Parts: sequence; C-alpha cells; structure tokens
Amino acid sequence: MKNLFTFLLTILCFSTLQSQEKQSPPNFIIIFADDLGYGDLGTYGHPTIKTPNLDRMAEEGQKWTNFYAGASVCTPSRAALLTGRLPVRSGMASSKHRVLFPDSKNGLPASEITMAEQLKTVGYKTAAIGKWHLGHKEQYLPTNNGFDYYFGIPYSNDMDKISGKDYWDYWKQPDDSIKTEHFNVPLLRNTKIIERPANQNTITTRYSDEVVSYIKQNKDNPFFVYLAHNLPHIPLFVSDKFKGKSERGLYGDVLEEIDNGVGKILSTLKEEGLAENTIVVFTSDNGPWLPFKLNGGSAGLLRAGKGSTWEGGMREPGIFWSPGRIKPAVVSDIGSTMDLFTTFSKMAGAELPNDRILDSHDLGPVLFEQKESARKSIIYYRGTEIYAARFGDYKAHFITQGVYGQFGEREEHNPPILYNLSHDPSEQFDIAADHPEMLQKINELVAEHKSKLVAGEDQLADRE
Ligand code: MG
Repeated sequence: MKNLFTFLLTILCFSTLQSQEKQSPPNFIIIFADDLGYGDLGTYGHPTIKTPNLDRMAEEGQKWTNFYAGASVCTPSRAALLTGRLPVRSGMASSKHRVLFPDSKNGLPASEITMAEQLKTVGYKTAAIGKWHLGHKEQYLPTNNGFDYYFGIPYSNDMDKISGKDYWDYWKQPDDSIKTEHFNVPLLRNTKIIERPANQNTITTRYSDEVVSYIKQNKDNPFFVYLAHNLPHIPLFVSDKFKGKSERGLYGDVLEEIDNGVGKILSTLKEEGLAENTIVVFTSDNGPWLPFKLNGGSAGLLRAGKGSTWEGGMREPGIFWSPGRIKPAVVSDIGSTMDLFTTFSKMAGAELPNDRILDSHDLGPVLFEQKESARKSIIYYRGTEIYAARFGDYKAHFITQGVYGQFGEREEHNPPILYNLSHDPSEQFDIAADHPEMLQKINELVAEHKSKLVAGEDQLADRE
C-alpha cells in the first residue's frame, strides 16, 4: 500500500513537472548572418571552412535544405523576418532603391508589428544585437520596434565610407590596407552612439559576447534575442585570434569567428540549464555577394547569389536547435524566415494579429512532430515586382535578371521557364514544355496572391 502511494505520488509530481514545463514559454534566439551563402558552412558542404559549432547544432537539431530568406538583399529580407510579411506589404521593398542608406529618410513603419512587439505582449524580454538596417533614425531603431535593448551598427558595414579611396579598392584580396577607420559606421547602445567608427575587427566577438551576457542577465524571464551579425558582408574584418587561421582565407576566418560565437551561446544555454527550453535558429539574410570574388561567399550548387531571384539569392542554411525538443532531422520541406513570426507566436502563446495578411506559417509540426510543412510555396520578389514563384518542387521564372554586372540582362519569359528544384537544384534544365499543368498551377497561385495584395507605401525611395 505504501509502495502504491509512493508510486502515485511520483506520477503526480512528474505530471505536475511536465505541465509546468509545458506552461513555461520557451526562449528564442535568431542568429542571422549577412550575405552568407547556402554553401558556406561545413554542414552544408563547404570543403575548407570549419564550422564545428554550427555543424553540431545541425546534427543535434534540424538542418533545412529548402529554407528561404524573405528577399535577396538586406533591408527587405530583415523586414520580412521580423514582421512575417512580404516586404512589399510593409513598403520595405522598392523599385527605386533596393535597401536603406545612411541618408534614407524612412524606415519600418510603426504600423508594422515586429516579432519583438508580438512577444512583448506575452511578457518576453527582448534584445536586438547587431545590424539593424530598418531605419537609422531614432523612431525606427530597435528600441522603438519592440526591443528593450539594442547594441549594434544600424546599417551595413560598408556604408558611411570615408572618401579618398576608390570603393572597389576595398575588395582586393589579400588586402591588409582595409582599415576599420575607412568606414565611419556608428555603434549604438540603445539610441546613443558609443563608438564611431565602430571597431569592426572585434565586432563579431563583441556581438556574441553581448548575447552571452544578455542570456545570463535574463535567464529568469522568457527572452527573445535577435543577433544579426554585420559580417560576412563586405568589407571583411576579423579579430586577431582568427586572422589567418582558416584554410579558406579571410572569408573563412570571418565565418569561423561567427561559428565560435555560436559555440559560446550554445554552451551558455547549457550551463544555465536553458538549452531544452530555448529555440536557436541560424540563417542568413541573402545569398553571397559574388562580384567580390574571393571576399564573397558561395551558394554551393545553387545558381547565382545576392540580389537575384535565382536560388542562390534567397535559399539559405536554416538550422533549428533545441535539444530534447526539436526532433533531429534533415528537412527538405519548404520554410521561410517569415515563418518564424507565426511559429514563435504560437509557442509563446501570443495571439496573431488578424487585421493584416501574414505570409507566415507555423513550422512547429515539422520541428516537433516531424509532420509536413504547411508552407508549399515561395513568391520571389525583386523590389516590388514578382520575378518567380515556387510551388512544391517546381519553380517558374517570369523574369530573370542579373545583378551587380553578372548573370545577364533583364529578360521576360512568356511562357515562363520551369525547373524541378528537387531534381535540378542548380536551375539548369527548363522543363516548361513537359509540364503545362504546373505552369498553370503556379500562374493561379500568383494571380491569387496579386488579387489580395495591397502594396505598402515605398519607405526606401526618399533620401536626404
Ligand atoms: Mg545581406
């Protein structure tokens, strides 16, 4: 009888613990690289860049092979991730300028709901560490977009160039003449400039260390950290500890420093007992900046890179980690950075806004139950114009256009070019003639999308 009582008590305690665990909302950390390509990590096949921490993260978690950024360049891609919406809806995509500049007048409209604002409604602590690029004026900074704390450079690390040297001189490789002082980029804490020019040699490790401190300080609350590295966007900078260490050269050095920071963050979560209740995601804002040759990354077997609507422009590594919670797998279902908005909202118990169209699906069933992804399609915009669309395995290009002087002139395709991305990830073999039914299906999908689209007012067009 006594044994039975102890047994029942144990069951009761265990189920109480389980329900408490279910009630405790998870922490979220997004680690977002800048211009890192699909082929740049060890776990995605790079032969000489060593990324042991990201490789382990992928092995212990899920490695997605059809995971997309929301756009092929910085500003719209970041807006998409944080709002769960195609940037054309928020006005953060433009036919005039592709990104924001230090003399841009505007930024992310206040009417948009960021992931941080969303998670704050259910009591999360929130921090943005790193590159922002959604408006540098005070009203557009992270602290006015749902983040309690900001530490970082508000735009790209090549902006605010100090004149006197040809822009293209900066990209010669190897080149020790590139100095952090050649760029007058500010480093902000909250809304105040604390360093100018920002010392970019040490910025990667400083960002990772900020995240480590933030985790330790906020371990008793649910938290959301958005770590957006400025690198490996060009110009490349690396701290002394990593300089000259990678077999891949300077670009590899930079990635290995980012990877080292990932290792520190995961170790901290384990040491603090938070690993099982934290979801960590690693991805990148867009593909590699190929015209910079040895200083640019690699899209691996994908075609083209940053700025284009070929796969190399928008398909990215997507690694999800939460030991014991996420089922380890290699996932070839389709996902997007825009899906994090709904996925995290559902996990945190935050109600989704019902006054706007979201382009965001809950990836929870794939992450936790190994079910199919609810996302079946991707619409590829360049600025405010649809260039291509994917449904299932098939992708139709309505318009193709090179970028940064590479990959040819703008060309409209009627009928569109069609590829089966599962059979032909490098987009080499047009099969449109054999699959009129797929072209019809994709045309219907795009027509449906357009019929409901209300484009936001262009926030990128006006400059001082
Ligand atoms: Mg970028």
